[in-house]
Amino acid sequence: MKEDLRVELQALKAHPRLGVFCFGTQASSVYWAAQQKAAAELGIEIEGWRSQRPGNAITQEEVEGKIEEWNRACGVHGIFVHQPMPPELDPQRISALIDPRKDVEGIHPQNSARRFFAKARIGSCTALAVMELIESTGVALAGKEAVVVGHSEIVGRPVSMLLLDKLATTTVCHLGTDQAGRLEDHVRRADVLVVAAGRPQLIKGAWIKTGAIIIDVGINVVAGHVVGDVEFEAAKQRAAFITPVPGGVGPVTVMMVMKNTVEAFKLQRG
Ligand code: NAD
Repeated sequence: MKEDLRVELQALKAHPRLGVFCFGTQASSVYWAAQQKAAAELGIEIEGWRSQRPGNAITQEEVEGKIEEWNRACGVHGIFVHQPMPPELDPQRISALIDPRKDVEGIHPQNSARRFFAKARIGSCTALAVMELIESTGVALAGKEAVVVGHSEIVGRPVSMLLLDKLATTTVCHLGTDQAGRLEDHVRRADVLVVAAGRPQLIKGAWIKTGAIIIDVGINVVAGHVVGDVEFEAAKQRAAFITPVPGGVGPVTVMMVMKNTVEAFKLQRG
């Protein structure tokens, strides 16, 4: 993906610019460092916004003010807000305020609606990264049993839409499935399993169907170590393909943010 993007940017003879809202969390800092590195490697300009207030206190007004400024700026082509947003912010208001042509995470209601009709111009970076990884296996998805664990707006729901677009028979599980004691049943029949719950080791290796494709989106810090939502070592014995955490979905998602920034640039340039 990096090489393809380099070639495309050379042909475009352009340096698209991405504006990123960073928050003070450890996850946001790690993500921001990875985004800066990828942007520098590709020649994409990147600008981070952090609250300048004492204690990094953030107000809805200052975030909205910055979004409006970046929406107006013709030199800014993409806007990305780290998730989860701090509790003092209203995520729905913020998503709806971003110019849909600059919305590189596909969170604006217009972009979410386009995804529903399989007509997205700019899709959710994490969901597209998941699909990129699945498709890199070369396994055809039509008719396969796909199980998505997690139904959030930024991962589970967009991933399930994209799997449906590929004609996978798609089941979406969530907290309610687990509370009903049904999670294991669904996971056991998955040819393709995408897990985005944010619960360390939620999926047991013994539940994995032999030959399955496992995409672990979860990022959890346990005793100072980053782990996913799947029991990796045990699952690896049964899966045909499995993504590690760290070093799996994360780097592909970062590259997808860059790809979407280039797409947004082209969209705005017409
Ligand atoms: P979220 O908190 O918005 O949603 C969590 C989902 O998991 C919900 O649908 C919830 O019902 C479900 N869930 C929670 N507990 C469950 C259980 N016991 N059994 C079954 N389902 C359960 O989270 P999110 O924003 O979608 O993120 C999920 C995870 O993915 C987090 O660990 C996050 O850090 C990670 N993430 C990684 C990337 C990446 O690029 N690798 C990108 C985004 C999010």
